[in-house]
Amino acid sequence: MMIQSNRLDECRVCHRKRVRKFLSLGKTALANNFLTREQLKRHEPVYPLEVGYCRGCRYVQLWKPVPPKAMFDRYLYVSSTSSTLSRHLTSVADAVVQKLGLTDGDLVVDIGSNDGCLLRGFKAHGVHVLGVEPARNLVGLARRAGVATYNGYFSLATAKRLRRRYGPAMAVTATNSFLHIPDLDDYLAGLDAWMAPEGVFVIEFHYLADLMKQGAFDTVYHEHVSYYSLHPLIFLFDRFGMEVMDVKRLPVHHGQLRVYVKRKTGSRPVADSVAQLLDAETRLGLGRYATYAVFARNVFHNIRKIQRTLLGLKRSGASIAGYGAPAKGNTLLNVCRIGPDVLDFIADKSRLKQGLFTPGQHIPVVPAEKILQAQPDYLLLLAWNFAEEIMQEQGEYIRRGGKFIVPVPRVRII
Ligand SMILES: [Zn+2]
Repeated sequence: MMIQSNRLDECRVCHRKRVRKFLSLGKTALANNFLTREQLKRHEPVYPLEVGYCRGCRYVQLWKPVPPKAMFDRYLYVSSTSSTLSRHLTSVADAVVQKLGLTDGDLVVDIGSNDGCLLRGFKAHGVHVLGVEPARNLVGLARRAGVATYNGYFSLATAKRLRRRYGPAMAVTATNSFLHIPDLDDYLAGLDAWMAPEGVFVIEFHYLADLMKQGAFDTVYHEHVSYYSLHPLIFLFDRFGMEVMDVKRLPVHHGQLRVYVKRKTGSRPVADSVAQLLDAETRLGLGRYATYAVFARNVFHNIRKIQRTLLGLKRSGASIAGYGAPAKGNTLLNVCRIGPDVLDFIADKSRLKQGLFTPGQHIPVVPAEKILQAQPDYLLLLAWNFAEEIMQEQGEYIRRGGKFIVPVPRVRII
């Protein structure tokens, strides 16, 4: 017999049984598993999309993670596709090289290295680089661009093997991929095994404080096992003899937090920014369950508003298409139940996604050129984090009278 409980057995950061659910978005298909026409005929699995908050360490976590193999063996999100993101990754490399004083002989490892976009930035500084990436299709792209990449999942066993072969890492980076890790203990043990005594781990991710301010419920999907604020990270790294040495909030992407982590035995100083951000989080209420419950209420309010807006436009005879087929777009479409009866198509610049259908709702993904050919009255902006870049590119669509629908934090038409 299945017992439905509002409590998760154990928090993945502090291992205490103090996790309570606050957001249930129903069952959805995996957000990055776009389908071929042939696959549309087959059964498509769906998984519960629910999030809980740990009162022990403030860690916000996916309730039931899906096995990574179902998501990452073939991956359609390519970092270099967006010029904004690719510029940002170059700036990450520059900042890390400068801050850590990396020199020629140093090894930089990027976990979840995608197509090698970040490591190309490091290579320009003359350091050694190695990517670790499970998606075979991306490893091919990275190697062709001259970035040495190990094809596999990061784990303690992998870290030990790669350290023997390549030596200790002076910097280990993980941008966004750090949100994907269900087994944090094995990952941290691997980091501990590979990092040099003065090495630094640099992570960057969509910051929970930004996510909540943006009402970005769509960035909740099964790949994102974790929704980090700084507080639980202090707990997590402490268990492995490490500490946060500096943090930096960045306005790019969705609002990122960059966190630098060192060994407690290392000689690098801890910046004041760490204590300051912890205080700011407490003031924001990130240490109270009630804050998350209010967030969930606002999310459901907006979901109903998105549905009403789109159906209203459709009934008035308007044509609507989507712009951007990011993973989060599929959370939005699946949770709001927006299908091909509402959106004629979704335009996306990524060739890997064109010709495929969105998971769950089965909306066709087409090249961006289709927008001016069809000139839909409205474009639902699913990649809202790149709004500026997209609106600049779609100047002609706007000149011809096209309008954008921005879905979060409150749906609006511009
Ligand atoms: Zn916890």
